[in-house]
Amino acid sequence: MNRRQWMALSASTFAAGRRAAAAEQAPQGAQGGNAGRPLQDAALPLERYEPRSMLHVPETHVPRSRFPVIDFHTHITFAAGGGNPAAIRFSMDPANCLAVMDRKNIRTMVNVTGGYGAGLRDAIGKLQTALTGRFIVFTEPAWIRASDAGYSKFQADQIEDAHQAGAKGLKVLKTLGLFLREQGSQKLVRIDDPRFDLMWEAVGSLKMPVAIHTSDPEAFFLPIDRFNERWEELHAHPDWSFHGKDFPGNRELQEARRNVMRRHPRTQFVCLHVANAEDLPYVSECLDSHPNMNVDIAARIGELGRQPRTARKFFDRYQDRIVFGTDASAGTSTPQQTFGGALYEIYYRFLETEDEYFDYAPAPIPPQGRWRICGLGLSEQVLRKVYGENAARLIGLPA
Ligand SMILES: [Zn+2]
Repeated sequence: MNRRQWMALSASTFAAGRRAAAAEQAPQGAQGGNAGRPLQDAALPLERYEPRSMLHVPETHVPRSRFPVIDFHTHITFAAGGGNPAAIRFSMDPANCLAVMDRKNIRTMVNVTGGYGAGLRDAIGKLQTALTGRFIVFTEPAWIRASDAGYSKFQADQIEDAHQAGAKGLKVLKTLGLFLREQGSQKLVRIDDPRFDLMWEAVGSLKMPVAIHTSDPEAFFLPIDRFNERWEELHAHPDWSFHGKDFPGNRELQEARRNVMRRHPRTQFVCLHVANAEDLPYVSECLDSHPNMNVDIAARIGELGRQPRTARKFFDRYQDRIVFGTDASAGTSTPQQTFGGALYEIYYRFLETEDEYFDYAPAPIPPQGRWRICGLGLSEQVLRKVYGENAARLIGLPA
């Protein structure tokens, strides 16, 4: 099937397909479900289409990483109580995490969503203190107070308190820029709003790196139509779309974060999800102009691995500023982030081998878009840095 035919198939089945699927009630993924009747293209629902690659190419199994891993981006705990991270809940059992970590050569997991106040102390006690060296906990801003008078000072003090309690970094969710609104006017609060300047300075002077998630995939800012490369993902999660309404565009959000990095040169920023994984020329330009900028690769090997030659050059060039991360958490609704051995093996295969055209997530249908990836075959020197050395330096752990 050529590209034109494929587009015709996909487009025509979006509407008709879902109805047909419901009517047929054939078990999903059943072998030979269509046996005995002629397959009519127009009746094949997109969500049941699971093409299997016929390529005869090497398939390398990488059960353990070549060098010890620091997973810089995981969610073992989450905010409890209406999204306010003053209290946290555990989404994964630390003992189960340890079992996977030992099998997969993961030295340390960084739990970025550690909350603040009593919640933070709870997370640090059960992870970082109880299992020294294996878990690191970051703190989070008290967004709920952001419209209060005196917030700037309060937040800077809160950072001091978190540091005292043992927090090793600050996590900023995409909340900033896309969800946090002024009390009253409901206007979105800008990422570079000066009320946060004291906070950025406080973490910088305490040598706590900022793990900052800004914006989202570019397709999330476009209409959910047949031209959208992440149509299935957005169709499954329509609330992930930032198209329309009063949301700023992707580039505007990225530039606002750039202003923050420019204004706070002594603070180290780790821009999560490769900052803007579809646009490596732009990310490169940002890295070149901001020496305090770093990136993680969490949940974006699907983007990096479909531009493997560009990505390989990117890794070679910025080998001191890329950290390993997965965005791993419990749950199965986003298989590209489901914590477990299968997830890590895909990352290792992507970074270490030159295998071609394999799945970027442990799922029957690629969850972030219908493509497959190629491995980068990084050198030992680059692997050593990306797997652990860069993160160790940023967090202040022994190499
Ligand atoms: Zn995350």
